[in-house]
Amino acid sequence: MTLQLIKKAEEKHSLTKEELVLLLQDNSINEELFSAADRVRKKYMGDEVHLRGIIEFSNKCKQDCLYCGLRASNKNIERYRLMPDEIIDLAKKAVGYGYKTVVMQSGEDAYYTVERLQYIISTLKEFGIAVTLSLGEKTFEEYKAYKEAGADRYLLRIETTDKELYEQLDPGMFHEDRKRCLRDLKTLGYEVGTGSLVGLPGQTIESLADDILFFKEIDADMIGLGPFIPNDDTPLKGAASGDFTMSLKVMALVRLLLPDVNIPATTAMETLNKQGRIIALQSGANIVMPNVTEGDYRKMYALYPGKICVNDTPGHCVQCITGKIKSIGRTVSKSKGSRTKKNTSE
Ligand code: SF4
Repeated sequence: MTLQLIKKAEEKHSLTKEELVLLLQDNSINEELFSAADRVRKKYMGDEVHLRGIIEFSNKCKQDCLYCGLRASNKNIERYRLMPDEIIDLAKKAVGYGYKTVVMQSGEDAYYTVERLQYIISTLKEFGIAVTLSLGEKTFEEYKAYKEAGADRYLLRIETTDKELYEQLDPGMFHEDRKRCLRDLKTLGYEVGTGSLVGLPGQTIESLADDILFFKEIDADMIGLGPFIPNDDTPLKGAASGDFTMSLKVMALVRLLLPDVNIPATTAMETLNKQGRIIALQSGANIVMPNVTEGDYRKMYALYPGKICVNDTPGHCVQCITGKIKSIGRTVSKSKGSRTKKNTSE
């Protein structure tokens, strides 16, 4: 029965919530599921892997998400903030390493006003790269101003589609605001990235199935799935960690249902499994997002413990991941890797 569901998903790219739940619950079909996702990835996205260089430019955040080491109440981390020209310098170096996309990621930090961000974004665009922002919840006008400055993509994870769980884990934040942000970003013509944390305390299999259907409903262009990893400096210290295999299953199902979207092999997956990113690339993923932040800032951007590559340099990271990609017969793309919608009904 579940094997037939995989076949159906591979051919029709459609499953009901009940069917998704059945597949998420059945661990006897995992290999078939991962292989089907890999075939769909190859058919629609080819063998190229796109690298996106992440600049983690501020770990200051006004929000207080219970699962995140950057939460405002965490007094155990040293905070930092890079100045606009330092961000531009890192982006310039990333371009030198061959990156075609730079992702500017931070906590929700009010220092970066619209004017400062417009300056950074428009300067980065002069390098001929795609610019992705991951700055959290903003107003429609702010998103519009970034877009007008040249931003191409925006990442904002829904984290979980379980409204009650979301509002419990993200005190002071509202699920409806999150959805409003995603709608605004789509309206403004961004390529929109979203995604979930898998294995949050209190999260159900049913809500993971809802997450997958939500990504399809909003026509997300990029979907990142990462296992929840408890951080000792947060109230979720001591909670059970998310499961690598379950994260991989959710990711593989996303590939089957949304064949032409960009899916990263996330860093958090490699934290739980030494081969995590390679396994993810062989189970539906087509993107890797290496860190191009330098020095101690890599350690200080401590979303969760055990983050990989914190002692490496950006130059080392690009060589390391390129070697891994080649070792599985894939190639590093020389293009920006924007989402191109394909006919998925054939
Ligand atoms: S998840 Fe994002 S918004 Fe929440 S505390 Fe961490 S950095 Fe801030």
